[in-house]
Amino acid sequence: TEEEEEACDSAEDSEPLALANYVILANVRYASFSVDFLRSLFSRTLGLSPGEKVLDELTLDGVARYILSGKCKNIICMVGAGISTSAGIPDFRSPGTGLYANLQKYNLPYPEAIFQIDYFKIHPEPFFALARELYPGQFKPTVCHYFMRMLKDKGLLTRSFSQNIDTLERVAGLEGEDLIEAHGTFHTSHCVSFLCRKEYSMDWMKNKIFSEDIPKCDSCGSLVKPDIVFFGENLPDRFFTSMKMDFPRCDLLIIMGTSLQVQPFASLSEFGMGLIGFGGGMDFDSDKAYRDVAHLSTCDDGCMALAELLGWKEELEQMVKREHALIDSRDVKKKDEANQNSKSTGAEAGKTDKTA
Ligand SMILES: [Zn+2]
Repeated sequence: TEEEEEACDSAEDSEPLALANYVILANVRYASFSVDFLRSLFSRTLGLSPGEKVLDELTLDGVARYILSGKCKNIICMVGAGISTSAGIPDFRSPGTGLYANLQKYNLPYPEAIFQIDYFKIHPEPFFALARELYPGQFKPTVCHYFMRMLKDKGLLTRSFSQNIDTLERVAGLEGEDLIEAHGTFHTSHCVSFLCRKEYSMDWMKNKIFSEDIPKCDSCGSLVKPDIVFFGENLPDRFFTSMKMDFPRCDLLIIMGTSLQVQPFASLSEFGMGLIGFGGGMDFDSDKAYRDVAHLSTCDDGCMALAELLGWKEELEQMVKREHALIDSRDVKKKDEANQNSKSTGAEAGKTDKTA
């Protein structure tokens, strides 16, 4: 619609969303969390008219009491890379361990090229080599992921907006309408040809990635790419429509593991988040602070602390234990199958090694 276009095109012209009651619980993993950045990002709209004070105290306890009061029915989560680092997924920007720092071996003209759609269409190999290394499914969701699942199970989660492409939200049990993968997902793949756009499953793509075949469309021969958002591609439409729909009725916004700053696949400040302007200046500690709560800890610790205040701690611990055991038992099964396969092809593999 025209309205949506406007929201995407022009920040300054878009109407501020009326958000009377909501709280920002900024729970971030890194000390480098930029409060100033968030302040400026959120200042476009809500700062105009202060909303009603809903927390009796700007602390995690205050948030817990608000949730338990029954007045907080629509919770939105916004999550980023920080919620997955404890699962072992490398953060894109950490020096040394960060993804970009480990890209030299691919001889890229510049690191971001690996996620540039035009570069990919000519040189898809580095991306698929990297995908093999980072392939989702080798990692387990964290306490923080399961905390969101608990919000869902208790009927409190309106939606989770994730900047991550690791699919751990889905593994933890968020699905369909629960989730907006702002930077796309490995869950599905499509032929890159605009005329074709044939869809491929996660299993199909996984087989290609691990067989070191460059995935090609079986209808038209073009490249097939996981549906993650590359530089030069648009964010999914659902991202914009859901934000416009969800934020006006949001009672509590929980931000975890992200400073909302530049991210690997698309920058939300460039492509949407800042433009839609869902917030108002965040204020955690001034004299005028009435709404926003910052809890600085790891995401897992923060979620566990909130769960404890809500009386959900044991339930959450059990969920994590149960779900991880389930994933482990599947992994063991897969490994057994893989061992069986490698035994039967072992002799052949040995031969290949000698000739190579
Ligand atoms: Zn095709």
